[in-house]
Amino acid sequence: MKIHEYQAKALLSEFGIPVPRGGVATTPAEAKRIAAELEGKVAIKAQVYAGGRGKAGGIKVANTPEEAEKLAAQMLGTRLVTHQTTPEGVPVSKVLIEKAVSIQRELYLSIIVDGASRMPVMMASEAGGMDIEEVARVSPEKILKVYIDQAAGFQSFQRRKLAYGMNLNSTHIRPATSLMTNLYKLFQAKDCSLAEINPLVVTTDGELLALDAKLNFDDNALFRHSDIEQLHDVEQEDPLEAKANELGIKNYIKMDGNIGCMVNGAGLAMAVMDLITQAGGRPANFLDTGTVNDANRVVNAFKIFTTDPNVKAILVNIFGGITRVDVIAQGIVEAHKQMDCRLPLVIRLAGTNVDDGKRIIAESGIKFVEATDFYDAARKAVEAAKGGSK
Ligand code: ADP
Ligand code: MG
Repeated sequence: MKIHEYQAKALLSEFGIPVPRGGVATTPAEAKRIAAELEGKVAIKAQVYAGGRGKAGGIKVANTPEEAEKLAAQMLGTRLVTHQTTPEGVPVSKVLIEKAVSIQRELYLSIIVDGASRMPVMMASEAGGMDIEEVARVSPEKILKVYIDQAAGFQSFQRRKLAYGMNLNSTHIRPATSLMTNLYKLFQAKDCSLAEINPLVVTTDGELLALDAKLNFDDNALFRHSDIEQLHDVEQEDPLEAKANELGIKNYIKMDGNIGCMVNGAGLAMAVMDLITQAGGRPANFLDTGTVNDANRVVNAFKIFTTDPNVKAILVNIFGGITRVDVIAQGIVEAHKQMDCRLPLVIRLAGTNVDDGKRIIAESGIKFVEATDFYDAARKAVEAAKGGSK
């Protein structure tokens, strides 16, 4: 789960990491009031679940409260398109008004969980700022990494290695190492999957500040952080993903193709997507139903397919284990009763109670194409999507 920059900064602050003073506004009048309180130059920052705002016009500097009001009015209510968003962009309903900082150096600091080593890794670079992706591509040696052993903890030599590696002068080493300690404490305490400060700046006054903040959280740990779960901003999500979430389909990711896939098991779902691509088509989504013991789950998946205007054919590929194929079949039949679904349907069923499942579908009279194996299913779905209409 993602949160906004202003919320991430509040958490950083709670953990003793210095951030610029500021406040969040939903109207131009509020922006003006906050700017007046802050005095002097302020930065107006679009609050969206995407990076790359600086390069996309989502960060502006105002010299006066009136200018802050005007710039906030131009930003609020629009959609911001950055290199990290879809071409439709994301809505800007809030702006962060914060003290404009005079920057001497822009550094980079982050923590992610590294899948290969199964350890949190802290990364630091003296080449922070808006081009960090380019730095990672052309001169990866400029990004220093330390792997944090969970049993041994985050060691002081590791912090010093990063701080000296960023070429900080001696007065900044201690503030930097304590900032790193605090960031790691936050990362652990809140079950983050990513904590990123880019840029971490040294101001011309010699202060070390987190100028941007991005925190992502492990969805599987949210049950123990209801305070964080509440911060979730549905408006920023893809509407279909939000709807899927609301319908209890957790593992749904919207994609840009036209074949709606309903599959049980993440591995099987990935394999199906690969095969569709190999057969010359494009999946409209990743959807892992999980273990299905309730036909309604299947009905809900069909609700998503029929809401998505890109879907031109549906592919159901189920390998029943604990999931019973007859329950899946009941769901498919029920979905066709509840909605006007004329999308071509390709079905491949195997596993527990497959004969009952096949019988239920055959007796229902639903029009469908039967597939015998994976590749056959993928090929038929690609074929069906070519001529599909609702
Ligand atoms: P993004 O990563 O989405 O582009 P950032 O918050 O990193 O957004 O801002 C982009 C750039 O804008 C920063 O690298 C910095 O140069 C400038 N900037 C951001 N906030 C401020 C601020 N409060 N004062 C001065 N400059 C800022
Ligand atoms: Mg940034």
